[in-house]
Amino acid sequence: MAKFKGVSLSDGISYGNIVKVKNHNQHIFFNFVEDKENEKLRVRKALTYAEEYQTALIEKYKDDEEIKNILTSYLYMIKDEDLLSKLNQIIDTISCQAEYAIQTEFENVINSMLLSESEYLKSRGDDLYSVMNKIIRVLSGNKNTDPNDLQAGSVIASDTISPIFLAGADVNKIAGIITSHSSPTSHLAIAARSLKIPMVTCSKEDLNKMQDDQIVIIDGTDGVVITNPSGLDMQYYDNLMCNLNAEKEKLERYKELEGKTIDGIRIAVQANVCSKEDVKWASTQGAEGIGLVRTEMLFHNMSKLPTMEQQMAVYKNIVENAPGKSVVFRLFDFSNEKDFYNIIGENGGNDSWGHRGIRVLLENEKVLRDQIRAILLSSEDGEITILIPFVSAPDEIMRVKYIVDEEYSYFMQNNIPVNQSVKIGSMIETPSAAILCDEIARQVDMMSIGTNDLIQYTLGTDRNSSGNISCSKAFHPAVLRFISMVADAGRRNHITVAVCGEAASDLKLTRILVGLGITHLSVTPDKIHAVKSEVEKHKFHDDVIFANNIMSCNTAMEAEAMVTIADL
Ligand code: PEP
Ligand code: MG
Repeated sequence: MAKFKGVSLSDGISYGNIVKVKNHNQHIFFNFVEDKENEKLRVRKALTYAEEYQTALIEKYKDDEEIKNILTSYLYMIKDEDLLSKLNQIIDTISCQAEYAIQTEFENVINSMLLSESEYLKSRGDDLYSVMNKIIRVLSGNKNTDPNDLQAGSVIASDTISPIFLAGADVNKIAGIITSHSSPTSHLAIAARSLKIPMVTCSKEDLNKMQDDQIVIIDGTDGVVITNPSGLDMQYYDNLMCNLNAEKEKLERYKELEGKTIDGIRIAVQANVCSKEDVKWASTQGAEGIGLVRTEMLFHNMSKLPTMEQQMAVYKNIVENAPGKSVVFRLFDFSNEKDFYNIIGENGGNDSWGHRGIRVLLENEKVLRDQIRAILLSSEDGEITILIPFVSAPDEIMRVKYIVDEEYSYFMQNNIPVNQSVKIGSMIETPSAAILCDEIARQVDMMSIGTNDLIQYTLGTDRNSSGNISCSKAFHPAVLRFISMVADAGRRNHITVAVCGEAASDLKLTRILVGLGITHLSVTPDKIHAVKSEVEKHKFHDDVIFANNIMSCNTAMEAEAMVTIADL
């Protein structure tokens, strides 16, 4: 038995087997082989496996015509007798191992695709690369790196795991996630919470000590990982799970209650969602509306941007299932770590930090227009907000509003019924937006503070990095001052100010946010009851005094300590 203490990134406790995810694609070096016939046999077996695998994938995506067609074209390629004879020829000529022959032939094809004039063919090169890697992995007996190969009860472990890996996996088979390079605000952690998968981040050293196939307990609530647990450990965690469930049950009554302080000041507790399933879950948890739809995460399984019609169908479904039909749709926040950026983000040069959100959308107006149309058409009567991501100046909002107005005119001229009262909101997640919050507030109906990015860009700290997360960076005086400034600007301009970053789900911050004047907290659906209960603990006036005291702290550590002491 070995016990590792890390940091909790997604609550919950589960058991499983460690699967070390290897993210890198290995380059195969030439090996001279004597038994060429054996290598040819291995090639044939690998292609048969790949054929079965590809057929299963086609079945999985049978409802998505586009993906299905792409996968089918690869299936034809794998089944092509020509491929087999070329591979045999390579083995015969240079006496290499099967893996090397496959790499050589596939890279030939991929390179000719990359050199082609057609953007479509170029983008397909990557897909073919993953088919090649799949076949090579099968040949070399390394089956664990493919999301489709996971067995039930897998606790996936790696330095980093791309959110796209999760999207490709059957998430019911993932019992837990362990990384050494993630933080609570990384998109992987956000996805894990949305999928209710316990997640812990630990040191690289500890991660290296964990081995493939070891039985493991992952305690995402306390940030603990136990490999090869003893019977006593199992018993302890069984009891703990019962106790946690009992505690959760105690909070169940908040499902029916509004968020309000003990003296009746309303604080709307809403839900952040990444999928249609999240919306349904949130409405059973008593969410008071959907405060943030991360729309770029809704279409994970698609290899191409969703069309206007595809988006409309998904948005419609969300509005229909949303509590009170109130939904804040954030426009696509494409960034270099999320899906689709490789399709439309290529003009960003090497600015991986700053080329995202509204900047990318304004460079791709057709994508922006299609999404705005899809949102306007998603409901005739819901309370809908279009939220603009990564705003850094009011003129970006003005350009979006101009496009929204043009789209409205188009619908009116063509007698197409649309929602006439869609609101416009701005994310406040860059220091420049926080500083210009008054100017921004005059342009919009609501502002939503994205603390995940606001912290990252204000403090100059990578949100994915696990360094220094023992003390919450949201307590940093600069961050709190920004939040306070934005809340004040909202009040002055009579508009709503929400917090939708992970800070809204952090119970240690609830009183402070309420005391600073935040009226809407958009949280992970799992945290709705706990946040409502935290809001209800104090009088509003006391929260204001408490927040003021916190604002006088010089350091994040001092502020956090003050909260801990107040809770004793
Ligand atoms: C944020 O930055 O706080 C936010 C809510 O947006 P995301 O986490 O999707 O970047
Ligand atoms: Mg953000």
